[in-house]
Amino acid sequence: MYVRDAIGRVTSTIVCGSDLHLYHNEFAGLEKNDILGHECMGIIESVGSEVKNVKVGDRVVVSAVISCGYDGCRAEYVRVPFADVNTLKIKSDVKDEQVLFLSDILCTGWQATVLGGVQEGTTVAVWGCGPVGWMSVMWSRYPGAKKIVAIDCCEERLEKARLQGAEAINFSKTDILKTLQQMIPGGPDICIDAAGFRFAKG
Ligand SMILES: [Zn+2]
Repeated sequence: MYVRDAIGRVTSTIVCGSDLHLYHNEFAGLEKNDILGHECMGIIESVGSEVKNVKVGDRVVVSAVISCGYDGCRAEYVRVPFADVNTLKIKSDVKDEQVLFLSDILCTGWQATVLGGVQEGTTVAVWGCGPVGWMSVMWSRYPGAKKIVAIDCCEERLEKARLQGAEAINFSKTDILKTLQQMIPGGPDICIDAAGFRFAKG
C-alpha cells in the first residue's frame, strides 16, 4: 500500500449504469474475472503513514472518480488511493443508503445541471429518470428552474420525478418532441441526457 492510501471495509456498494456499459462491451477494457463496482462506502481499517484526514474506524464514502488500477469495490475490502482527498467522512447517525449516492450518482446529476447552466427561471428537459436523471431533476429544482420535464418509459421513475416537481413524458405513450413543444413552446433551454449512448429517445 502507498503511504497516502487507505484500506476500507466495504459496508455498502451499488450497481451503476456504467457497469452495464462495461458488461455490454460499450466501454472497453472489461476482462474475465474483473471485479466491477466504483461506488461504495465503509469503515477505514488501516491508513498509510502520510494519511492525515482519515483514521482507522472512520466511516467514509469513497469517490467514484478514482481507481487503484486493479479491481472494483464490489468486494469485502478496497484500497483507496490518496485517501485524504478521495474519502468523505460520514457521521454515525445516518444510514448508508442516505449517503451512498454521494460517491457518484448525486454528484453526476449535480454536475449535469452546473455544466448545462441550469439557473433560476430556466426550462430543463431530462432524458432518462434512473438515479442520475432523478438527481438532475432534483438539482435543477434547487437553483429554481422554471419548468423541469422528465422523460422515461417507466411510470415508477416518472412518479419519483413528479415528486421532485417535474412534469413527465412517458415516451412509450406519446411523441416526445410534440409533447415537449406543447409543454415548453420553443423547446427547453437545457437538455440533460441521463440515458447515454443509444438509449435516449426522441
Ligand atoms: Zn457510477
